[in-house]
Amino acid sequence: MQKCQFICPSTVSEGIETISRINEDVLFISGGTDLVIKLQGGQVKPAWLMDISLLPELKFIKEDDGRIRIGSGATFAQISESDLVREKARCLSQAASQVGSAQIRNRATLGGNIANASPAGDSLPALLVLEAWVSVIGPQGFRRVPFAQLQAGGDVGLQGKELITEIDFPVWEPQGNVQILSVFGKVGSRTAVSIARLNMAAMLEFDAENQRILNSRWAVGALGRTPFRLEELEREIQGKRINSVLAQEIADHLTGVVDQAIPGRASQEYKRQAIRGLAYDLLEDLFPLKLG
Ligand SMILES: Cc1cc2nc3c(=O)[nH]c(=O)nc-3n(C[C@H](O)[C@H](O)[C@H](O)COP(=O)(O)OP(=O)(O)OC[C@H]3O[C@@H](n4cnc5c(N)ncnc54)[C@H](O)[C@@H]3O)c2cc1C
Repeated sequence: MQKCQFICPSTVSEGIETISRINEDVLFISGGTDLVIKLQGGQVKPAWLMDISLLPELKFIKEDDGRIRIGSGATFAQISESDLVREKARCLSQAASQVGSAQIRNRATLGGNIANASPAGDSLPALLVLEAWVSVIGPQGFRRVPFAQLQAGGDVGLQGKELITEIDFPVWEPQGNVQILSVFGKVGSRTAVSIARLNMAAMLEFDAENQRILNSRWAVGALGRTPFRLEELEREIQGKRINSVLAQEIADHLTGVVDQAIPGRASQEYKRQAIRGLAYDLLEDLFPLKLG
């Protein structure tokens, strides 16, 4: 591992002020679960490392004015243990609890998962269906952007020396017969510390009286450069009654999504089967005993 200078600010503003005076590249280190491996392997060789893991102002989880706000330094252990996230954003709670092992969840942060931008990052499909926004600050100032745009990259993507400070998303509240349902699932290899081979999240408004899906948002990961929303599926199932016929329609649609995303890839056949199994797992979690 190449030697580098190490900075440990006591506040975000002190950190940003420090890096705006540095003319070399600076990388933030939070949980270190992705970065340390890259540093050790020589894949990244920053001149400076800024430790943000001890900044208390990045570690909150709270509800504020109809939105859940999560500091980028919140670990997946904190997120999976949060009653607020479990009650109001179950898909993110489930995603957090399925990241790696207990040791990884104790260190790995939501901000690190976003910045690392793995196609298989487990929080990312959940953030897409929650329609999350991301706040970032850097030497050029502060901005708040939809997560979907940030992950698409380009000018709106995370720029060098930009620190993710916060992730926020609206709370969907149930009303009368309309329930809010949310779920996350993944397919990985057998070990507890595996990266997902496929992951998927969904948020639904469900009319419990008529057993119909009013609106839904679905997103899938590990099928392309970045996770993506399944807007065609969302339109196709709008207003439909939940039963085994609809479950099959959803599984068939998702098989088509795999065919479009990775045609001819060695993993195509495996993922065609895997996504069907994942769809049934998610639907059974959402609608126990209703698919028969
Ligand atoms: C054994 C193992 C198992 C894993 N299993 C999973 C899994 O099941 N699911 C999954 O999604 N991931 C998994 N990961 C990957 C990793 O744990 C996650 O991506 C984690 O969320 C990264 O967070 P971190 O705080 O450790 O990031 P770090 O390693 O500290 O940083 C990662 C990158 O993000 C940047 N960064 C960190 N925080 C910020 C910030 N606030 N603002 C801007 N840039 C920032 C860093 O500069 C670096 O480039 C696994 C990793 C290992 C080693």
